[in-house]
Amino acid sequence: MSRVLIIGAGGVGRVVASKCADNPGVFSDIVLASRTLSKCETIAREVGKGRITPEQVNADNVHEVIALINHYKPELVIHVALPYQDLPIMDACLETGVNYLDTANYEPKDEAKFEYSWQWAYNERFREKGIMAVLGCGFDPGVTSIYTAYAAKHHFDEIHTLDIVDCNAGDHGKAFATNFNPEINIREVTQKGKYWENGKWVETKPHEIKKVLNYPNIGPKDSYLIYHEELESLVKNFPTLQRARFWMTFGQEYLTHLRVIQNIGMARIDPVKYKGIDVIPLEFLKYVLPDPGELGENYRGETSIGCRIRGIKDGKEQTYYIWNNCRHEVAYRETGTQAVSYTTGVPAMLGAMMVLTGKWNGRGVFNVEEFNPDPFMEKIGEHGLPWQEVFNVDLEL
Ligand code: NDP
Repeated sequence: MSRVLIIGAGGVGRVVASKCADNPGVFSDIVLASRTLSKCETIAREVGKGRITPEQVNADNVHEVIALINHYKPELVIHVALPYQDLPIMDACLETGVNYLDTANYEPKDEAKFEYSWQWAYNERFREKGIMAVLGCGFDPGVTSIYTAYAAKHHFDEIHTLDIVDCNAGDHGKAFATNFNPEINIREVTQKGKYWENGKWVETKPHEIKKVLNYPNIGPKDSYLIYHEELESLVKNFPTLQRARFWMTFGQEYLTHLRVIQNIGMARIDPVKYKGIDVIPLEFLKYVLPDPGELGENYRGETSIGCRIRGIKDGKEQTYYIWNNCRHEVAYRETGTQAVSYTTGVPAMLGAMMVLTGKWNGRGVFNVEEFNPDPFMEKIGEHGLPWQEVFNVDLEL
């Protein structure tokens, strides 16, 4: 029986809140705080089952977060606001001695760059304080890292290549929309590609490398090599990896919109003066694009995200593919959000459950693949994201 504080009331926050409310045996008290109080109130009313206390907080302000934590005294803060708030919330957790969990690594607001160095730098201080930070507990990063740990533990003596494949074959009926926060999403997909090979990072132009990959129950889709944050921790934690890459599907229509957005300067993150005030084009664009949290109603089709792994077992080469498919309609019926928010929020709730029930424990800052994957893998199916696996198939990569 534990009290949790969820910060962030977007699509992901809604799923986390709903799923925590479904599990009162572990989450006895739930506080949902975000910048806009009314969004917390709506979530509490619509999916809170009478068990969520809405609150207002500006999580960029460490003192506000500290005051909120001191008021409610949660055992864990589940941070599902934006990556910009990772460090202020970690600071507040350190100050108050409370565990921390998030789904995306820190990005400075003025530079489209994400890496773990800033958060890993808290390791010693979290350890000394006797608390833990769990980094990257969504789907990717999150479940993909846990799939990798599970494969390494049970099916391989050494893993040599890892390809994380992320397909969204859903159709929301809009000409252009992003599936999670538009600002973070556009910053992520417009940057250069990068992958790990033979002990070093290899950089590519954005969307330079494309392959047609077949996804279960979906079929062939154009898949582009992009850089994704879990590659950084996975190559560190699985040093036998000779190559690690991340692939994401994009339709031509999406890429054309993205190109236009970049070409006309709307992806810029530096301020421009408009009628005497500073406006950041990408931040403004977020306000005119569809709200990802509201795409759910008309979203049809499914996501398929998994890991394709090659390695050695008992002296022989083996291949392994493990994945989850999630239907947008099913996610929407249950939580009122589409599958991208759902596949992020469910693992965040389950990771929180792992921490609160002591299945994952430790002192310091951890990426999810550092924990025992088994208790998580045993439970993730019953919470809505069942997985499938096949051995010795053509990985296409
Ligand atoms: P949304 O933009 O829908 O929601 C973000 C929420 O955070 C909003 O409620 C917003 O408030 C709130 N917020 C923003 N700034 C602050 C602040 N300073 N103080 C308090 N609250 C704030 O995003 P999503 O729900 O789509 O995504 C949430 C997180 O999940 C992101 O970090 C994203 O990167 C991550 N993610 C991770 C994935 C994974 O698989 N690991 C996949 C998808 C997303 P307001 O409503 O007032 O704007």
